[in-house]
Amino acid sequence: MTSAPLDSTPVATAPEPSAPAPAAPAPAAPAPAAPPVDDWEGFDFDTRQVHAGEYADLNTGLRVPPIALSAGYVFDDFDDQVDRFAGRSTDPIYSRQGNPTNGVAEARLASLEGGTVAVAVSSGQAAISSALFALAQQGDHIVSTASIYGGTRILFGRSFRRFGIDVDYVWDADDDAEWERAIRPETKAIYTETIPNPRNDVTDLPRIAQVAARYNLPLVVDNTVGTPALIRPFELGADIVVHSTTKFLSGHGASVGGAVVDGGRFDWAAAERAGRSFPLVTQSPRPGLGSMLERFGDGAYARAVREAVVNDIGPSLSPFNGFLLHQGMETLSLRMERHVDSSLRIAAWLEQQPEVEGVDYAGLPSSAQHAIALRDYAGRTGSVFGVTVRGGIDGARDFVNGLRVFSRMTGIGDTRSMVLHPLTSTHATFPHEINDRLGITPGLLRLSIGLESAEDLIRDLRRGLDRVA
Ligand code: PLP
Repeated sequence: MTSAPLDSTPVATAPEPSAPAPAAPAPAAPAPAAPPVDDWEGFDFDTRQVHAGEYADLNTGLRVPPIALSAGYVFDDFDDQVDRFAGRSTDPIYSRQGNPTNGVAEARLASLEGGTVAVAVSSGQAAISSALFALAQQGDHIVSTASIYGGTRILFGRSFRRFGIDVDYVWDADDDAEWERAIRPETKAIYTETIPNPRNDVTDLPRIAQVAARYNLPLVVDNTVGTPALIRPFELGADIVVHSTTKFLSGHGASVGGAVVDGGRFDWAAAERAGRSFPLVTQSPRPGLGSMLERFGDGAYARAVREAVVNDIGPSLSPFNGFLLHQGMETLSLRMERHVDSSLRIAAWLEQQPEVEGVDYAGLPSSAQHAIALRDYAGRTGSVFGVTVRGGIDGARDFVNGLRVFSRMTGIGDTRSMVLHPLTSTHATFPHEINDRLGITPGLLRLSIGLESAEDLIRDLRRGLDRVA
C-alpha cells in the first residue's frame, strides 16, 4: 500500500473571479509497479541472506515465508503423481523428502555458500552422515583431517565403523606422504572442517583440495564454525559443504538442524573413469530411468542425498526449525561481524592475563595458523577458540565455576557466550594419546563468544580468572 506524500495535502484557494477555469489535464497513466526480484543471483551477500529463496504468497500477501506444516502435497492430476514419483517433476511428494519452508532455507544457504543445491536435515550429525552415506557404502573408506569436532570423531569411530565404513586420519595436512599412505582404492571422500573447535586450528583448504583433486576424491568440508560470512569453501576447492545449522546459521540456539550443500563442480564421471565409483550419483536406480547425474546435472549429488539417503533413512528437518533457520540467516553477516570483533579483543586480552597459559585463536599472531588466517579469513577466524588456564583441571574447574555471564553448557555459535571443558565432555571417550596429540589438555576450555558486550565478557572472564590460584 502506498500513502500520499505529506506535502500533497490540497490547500483551498479562492478561484480567480474573471479567468475561465483551465481544462484539467488528462491524468497520465501511472507507470506499472516494478515486479519484485525473483532471482537474487548477482546481488551482494547481505542482500541474498535476507532474500534468497523467499517466495511470495499470492493468496495472502504474507511477507515472511510461512511455516508450511503439511506432511504431504496434492498432485494436480494422475499424470502429475506419475511424474513426481518418476523424478520427471521435482515438485514435492512428502515432507520427509522436501518442504517449502525448508526450501527457503535450502535456497538461501546454497546461495550464500555459492553452491547449486542444499538439502536441509534434522541436525549437523545428520548432515555429516547423509553427505557421506551418499558417497560411501560398506567396505568403503574415508580420510579425514585429525582435528575435527569430537562428536564427528565419535560418529566415525562408532556408527560408521558398525556400518562398515572405515575412517583414517591425517595429522599433518602438509605431508604428502601421509595422504599417500592414508588414501586407498576404496577411499570415497576427504573430510575436513574450516575452523575446528576447540582449538581454532584453521585448515589449509586449498592445499587439501589439491590432494583431493589429485586422487579424484570429493572434498567434504564442515563449515559450521566458519560460516559463509567468513569463508566459502567452494571458492577454495571444496566439493561439498556440510553444516550444523544449530549454530551460527540459525544464531539463536533454539533448535537443532543441519544441511548439505552441493558445490556442483565435482566431476563424477571422470572419477568413475578413474576407478572411484559413486553409484548413487552415476548409476541408474532402475531400468528406464537415467542416473542422478543424467537427470540433475550439477545438482545430482544433492538429489542423491535427498532422494537416496534422507528420504530412505528419514532425518528430515521439521518445517518449524526450517523457519527458525531461514529467519536466523537473515542477520548472519551482522552477527558474525560482532562475534569476531569481540573474539579478537577477548583473545588478545586473555593472552595477557597471568593466569592464562595460552590462547588458541588463529586470528592472533601467536598462532601457528596465523598465516592461513590472514590469507583465507582476513585474520577473522570466528568466535570459538581455546584458552588454557594454569593449574590443570583444578584451574579449569575454578575458572568455570567463577563465570556468571558465560553459560556452562555444550554448544557454540549463538547469541550467548558459552564455556565447556572438552577433556571431560566432547573428548571424554578418547584415549589419552589421541587427546594428547590433539592438544586437549586438562586446563583447556572452549569458549564461544556471543553477542553480549565485550566489556561485560572481559569482566566475567576476569571474575573466573580471579578464582584460579
Ligand atoms: N559439526 C560441528 C563443527 C559441530 O561443532 C557440531 C556440534 O557441535 C556438529 C557438527 C553437530 O551438529 P548438531 O549438534 O547440530 O548435530
